[in-house]
Amino acid sequence: MRVSPYHSINPSDPDVHHVYDDCVSGKQIPWQNKRSGTNGWPLCKHCADR
Ligand SMILES: [Zn+2]
Repeated sequence: MRVSPYHSINPSDPDVHHVYDDCVSGKQIPWQNKRSGTNGWPLCKHCADR
């Protein structure tokens, strides 16, 4: 489902943010790397295609 924007602080992850909690890319972010907000980054492609 759609949630508040979030992103990963892991430098090896793409510089994008997600808006779906079940995004194939976003759901691989471990909780300790997950932060709320867009961080000024564009929307993830998987989330944008939904
Ligand atoms: Zn996403």
